[in-house]
Amino acid sequence: MRYKSTRGGLFDITSSEAIRIGIAPDGGLFVPNERVSIDLNFIESLVNVTYRERAEKILSFFLTDFSKEELSECVAKAYGENFSVPEIAPLVRLHEHLHMLELWHGPTCAFKDMALQILPHFMVKAIEKTGEKAEIVILVATSGDTGKAALEGFADVDGTHIVVFYPNGGVSEVQRLQMVTQTGMNTNAVAVNGNFDDTQTGVKRIFNDEKICEALGTKGYRFSSANSINWGRLVPQIVYYFSAYADLLKDKSIIPGEKINFVVPTGNFGNILAAWYAMNMGLPVNRLICASNENNVLTDFIINGTYDRRREFHKTMSPSMDILISSNLERLLYELSGSDSNLIKSYMRDLTEKGFYSVNNSIREQVQNVFWAGFSNDSETVACIRSVYQDYGYVLDTHTAVAMDVYDKYVIYTGDLSPTVIVSTASPFKFNQSVAKALFGEETEGLNEFELLNLLSEKTGWKIPKGLRDLDKKEILHKTVCDKDKMGEVVMKLLKIS
Ligand SMILES: *Cc1c(COP(=O)(O)O)cnc(C)c1O
Repeated sequence: MRYKSTRGGLFDITSSEAIRIGIAPDGGLFVPNERVSIDLNFIESLVNVTYRERAEKILSFFLTDFSKEELSECVAKAYGENFSVPEIAPLVRLHEHLHMLELWHGPTCAFKDMALQILPHFMVKAIEKTGEKAEIVILVATSGDTGKAALEGFADVDGTHIVVFYPNGGVSEVQRLQMVTQTGMNTNAVAVNGNFDDTQTGVKRIFNDEKICEALGTKGYRFSSANSINWGRLVPQIVYYFSAYADLLKDKSIIPGEKINFVVPTGNFGNILAAWYAMNMGLPVNRLICASNENNVLTDFIINGTYDRRREFHKTMSPSMDILISSNLERLLYELSGSDSNLIKSYMRDLTEKGFYSVNNSIREQVQNVFWAGFSNDSETVACIRSVYQDYGYVLDTHTAVAMDVYDKYVIYTGDLSPTVIVSTASPFKFNQSVAKALFGEETEGLNEFELLNLLSEKTGWKIPKGLRDLDKKEILHKTVCDKDKMGEVVMKLLKIS
């Protein structure tokens, strides 16, 4: 399998090159050259095997320049004791045709671990294979979840350094403590005086700063990215859609070939795009339901074919979905356009210059044939957390609650009762403040983050995940704070270049 850029500037490269480079030099994203197609026999071969074996089989279609042994080594390192359950991505039944796919049993308690526990191992192999001599410096801008998952994944991985920038005061206390207590000789977390957009802009500026890149080069370093634009993050996410289907077959909730729905709480469009690739390979899917919070730019796009970011940015209780530019949508549009990179370039130019673009009728219809979209505001999210707890004793985090609420709207609107999987993207303990308040109201007033964790655990009987226990007792290891125009200097200083 070879890879090409959605903007036409680079084609016929290997998966290792795509992973090492991250984003194409023409600004495009890497996509596979060919479609992979599987049949029902393949799906049935997944039923009685472990998550690791499922992963090896699916990754081998896409990462063809990795040997079977190499893939199996990466998978073994990524999906083992670092997850708190042996199933890795367990499926939990809520009622006859509704199931939760829990993707938060990794070390940082959010679904980002599913990809960021394996990406560093791909990266090490990719460096070897492409003959790269430089040490790779991963720069990350985070609004909370990606930063910790990337730190945890790259900690002490040979040949790599990682620097995570987060907005000072812009992440939850749990998220901040997770990052500043990170161990590992090659890890750094830096607070930036600014908001998430400033932080993200600062990181992009460093990537494009010729002086910094040159200074790095002479010291034997080279930048790469761990954001969800990297193909090495997308491909591990395809696995759990197959895994969920195999688990439904295993407990006879469906018959082979039966079509199911997935509901995905969406921000950057990475997770739901992985679901689309699974469907495109032949996984029997009825609908992909795209759930947004009040930043509902994707809801409008799916309904009317115009992507318009000229709107107010809302800070919501599902912060990992507070996004107005969903980067991975570019990959879907490219695939649906019949690989028309000129068309994609014109859409992306319109987005930058005018703030919006409208897709042609063919793309709009194809999108609408597969996707259904809805959104929920914070008060609907709170009501949903409460009612699901009352009805099922099941505790939803705020992001997953958005998905659940949009699913309720979908059922009312369409009457479709096909078997459905809700993709659950974070442990409720990670967003304990909002969740505890939704469930226990006034009782939570005046309590700090750690008292809230305990309250939530005592009242629900759910255990506090290992990664969040004792967070208040860990040593603070990263104390650097910088202004938004000093981020480049900080990187140079941390790498001991200046
Ligand atoms: C990142 C994240 C999302 C959004 O996923 P995308 O791939 O960006 O669409 C949803 N929920 C949680 C908890 C996340 O951390």
